[in-house]
Amino acid sequence: MNPTPRVKLLLVDDQPANLLALASTLESPALELVLAHSGQDALRWLLREEFAVVLLDVQMPGLDGFETAQLIRQRERTGHVPIIFVTAVNTTDTHVTRGYRLGAVDYIFKPLVPEILKAKVQAFVELFRKQRELRQSEERYRAVFSSVGEAILAVSDDTERIVDANEAAIGLFGYGRQELVGLHLDRLDAPGDKPGAATPAAVNGSVRWQRRKDGKVFPAEITEAPAQLDTGPAMIVVIRDVTERLQAAEAQQLRERDRMQREFVANVSHELRTPIAAIKGFSETLRRGAIDDDRNRLRFVRTIETHADRLAALVEDLLTLAAIESGRDVPQPKVVELEAFTRELVLSMSPLSGRRRVGIDLQLVDARLFVDAKHLSQVLQNLVDNAIKYNRPGGRVRVEAVLERDAVRVAVKDSGIGIPPDELPHIFTRFHRSARAKELAIRGTGLGLHIVKHIVEANGGRVWAESVPEQGSTFYFTVPLAKKSAVPVK
Ligand code: ADP
Repeated sequence: MNPTPRVKLLLVDDQPANLLALASTLESPALELVLAHSGQDALRWLLREEFAVVLLDVQMPGLDGFETAQLIRQRERTGHVPIIFVTAVNTTDTHVTRGYRLGAVDYIFKPLVPEILKAKVQAFVELFRKQRELRQSEERYRAVFSSVGEAILAVSDDTERIVDANEAAIGLFGYGRQELVGLHLDRLDAPGDKPGAATPAAVNGSVRWQRRKDGKVFPAEITEAPAQLDTGPAMIVVIRDVTERLQAAEAQQLRERDRMQREFVANVSHELRTPIAAIKGFSETLRRGAIDDDRNRLRFVRTIETHADRLAALVEDLLTLAAIESGRDVPQPKVVELEAFTRELVLSMSPLSGRRRVGIDLQLVDARLFVDAKHLSQVLQNLVDNAIKYNRPGGRVRVEAVLERDAVRVAVKDSGIGIPPDELPHIFTRFHRSARAKELAIRGTGLGLHIVKHIVEANGGRVWAESVPEQGSTFYFTVPLAKKSAVPVK
């Protein structure tokens, strides 16, 4: 560790004997005593070095003590140095007054009383040390503040005005230091992007739009920390320009969207190709003679029909998906009576459930929903259709509704093949079809649940699934309830 530098005292007297007397009294390892024999000599020393205090003899030939003091005060570099006059006791009062007017901080009368001399000098030495420490910590703070590459503002808690700004902040905002200091912090915010009533804690680390002096707006990540400055309680605000980071993220998003689009096209083409190939193959077979094959022709025509149905379903799903994703299919919510609506829908599906020998039970609640009726029908149809499709012959499907605080939770349960846990997170992804579904040749597009998720969320609900392989699955979704006063649709 550095030893604390010694504090310098300047002793001025034309009489060497007096100087020695002063010096021997004040002698201390913590002090460095500089002896000057005249006013001129003292002034020269003061210009070169920094002293904690000057002990100045009043009566000197040439420049006397008062004249020397006057010159010391006049110069900027030395104007603030404390001066103690050393003078004879028999001094008149005017003498003392004149000294004080010239900026003396104290008087010491001869003959010297060592205790008094030491005590007075000690007080100034202490003062000097304190000031020096303060200056050093201030310098350290300045050095850190100005050298960091991040833009930093110090903002007063009371006025929300900038009290200090470092070089990086000046560069970032394009204001001069003089302009930036005193500016209200709001002036740097780009209008329309203020985080509303958010508290300073809530906006910690968030991205906000900032405006440069030239009007250019940029996104910035802002972190704030409370600090105690000599101007009062303040916020240290660190501003990081995140333009490049945002651009990189956007480019990444674009690439990702591009990749998904290509994948989507490849998937659709693949999905279309199978039924088209089948239709083409069986048509050809019929044309080449099978049309006269009494035993098989009907089977071939049915196969063609089945694949055409599959094509139609796929195109239907694609159109629904396109409408949703392009934002054209905006929900038009109305009041819907859950019980009646669901009963009717399930009834319309009885041909399918009958064919598969799957029974459907309903356990509903009397609730009025606020939802797009077409959407609700698509969601229920998809889920019940899956519950029948992925069931086993003689299995059951159960549609239950439970009232929640401001929504209804609908569960569609089946006793079917179930979904392996590792597959569960993916079933709402478009074109995802389980290996099991393909293996069992259960028809599907892999788009149904993706559409369901879109629709449910667009209508202000959530959808999720639970399943035990080989035992069955339960799909849940929520729908907002209508306000009491709302009128139901017929
Ligand atoms: P698909 O047209 O293939 O039925 P979905 O998006 O509706 O497409 O479903 C995606 C996949 O999720 C299905 O292929 C199937 O593997 C699985 N799945 C959906 N519902 C059920 C269910 N009730 N039981 C078992 N598996 C299901």
